[in-house]
Amino acid sequence: MYDPTESGDDALQAIADARLDADMLQAANDAEGRRRDALYDAGFCTHGSGQGHRPGVPGLDAGQVLCTSGCNTVFVSDEAWEAASAAPYDFPVRRQGQ
Ligand SMILES: [Zn+2]
Repeated sequence: MYDPTESGDDALQAIADARLDADMLQAANDAEGRRRDALYDAGFCTHGSGQGHRPGVPGLDAGQVLCTSGCNTVFVSDEAWEAASAAPYDFPVRRQGQ
């Protein structure tokens, strides 16, 4: 980040470093998106959305999460569903009808 007390070279280097960091983050996000698209195109669920238990609504026990992205997997906890949606490659489940 720009610091007016730094010399010109240091300030310019800080700006360049910040832009490089942003470019690298964007490239990583782009690659993750392409990886998820490839998984989806191959017929697997990316576990991108889920429905938690609601009192009075049958089908899920307290703490369970139903994947609504296409596989209808019931995960035993929020943590299990979050882990699956963070790394769907580790939890390859075919989308229904695939
Ligand atoms: Zn799923």
